[in-house]
Amino acid sequence: MIEIVFLGTSCMQPTKTRNHPAVLLSYKQENILFDCGENVQRQMRLIGIKPAKVTRLLISHWHGDHVFGIPGLMSAMGADQYAKKLFIYGPLGSQQYLEHLFKSFAAKGIIDYEVQEVSPGVFFENEEFRLVAEKLDHTVPCLGYSFIEKDRLRINVAKANQLGLSGPALGQLQQGKNIVHKGKKINSQDLTYPVVGKKVSYIADTSPCNGANLLARNADLLISEGTHLSDIQDKTEKYKHLTVKDAALIASENNAKQLIITHLSQRYKSTAEIVKEARDHFDNTIVAEDFMRIRV
Ligand SMILES: [Zn+2]
Ligand SMILES: [Zn+2]
Repeated sequence: MIEIVFLGTSCMQPTKTRNHPAVLLSYKQENILFDCGENVQRQMRLIGIKPAKVTRLLISHWHGDHVFGIPGLMSAMGADQYAKKLFIYGPLGSQQYLEHLFKSFAAKGIIDYEVQEVSPGVFFENEEFRLVAEKLDHTVPCLGYSFIEKDRLRINVAKANQLGLSGPALGQLQQGKNIVHKGKKINSQDLTYPVVGKKVSYIADTSPCNGANLLARNADLLISEGTHLSDIQDKTEKYKHLTVKDAALIASENNAKQLIITHLSQRYKSTAEIVKEARDHFDNTIVAEDFMRIRV
């Protein structure tokens, strides 16, 4: 199961109820943080998540609202005796930005970390999932990301029980291997069924572009910025952002199943109009709130 927690849902200006952008995706042993807005460590404490749980940090771009939380988070992780290495991914220039960041104050106890500047495509893969980056179109180099769970086989328990199968035999069948049980050959195909992996994508600051379409394509959950309503589209275009309508069209044209709008301008005091504009173009939309949890 994939769990998403919104730790910050504003854009440039945080408000009383919305912190700077950050989204945490948890899956088995992994806790992947998309962007790291200011004060993300406190947001985590408020919702009962230890900062030291974070395994990977995916930075979309280096505008302050998306990265001001990094030194605080990494210091908090150090104070929590983080024993692992934190993997940080981001666009070209990320290594240098981080080095400068840690030179700008009396840093101590900073945890071990490794930075990978990623290009579009798959940049991390294990047996269970892959991470994919796509280029977005913003005023500085910017990436969006997909978390893609791999397809897997699940055991047909009723059939397995009938044959008296258990333990390691089931493990082998689940890996697609045929086995011999009580002198009889058993095909993996006959005892398992495929489960299609889920895709969760994060579209950060951007104008409508091909990268955004690729992220949205067939996503089970699309998290997208939607900074303004389309009545101020000129302003939105000037700063290379998406309107709520843009985000909804990207979701609908690319067959996404669900859309969550985030990165909201502080000018909107209520979400009613945002929900309405989005649902005019893509019905299965909700608007993110800080501390909202979603399971995919
Ligand atoms: Zn932003
Ligand atoms: Zn930005």
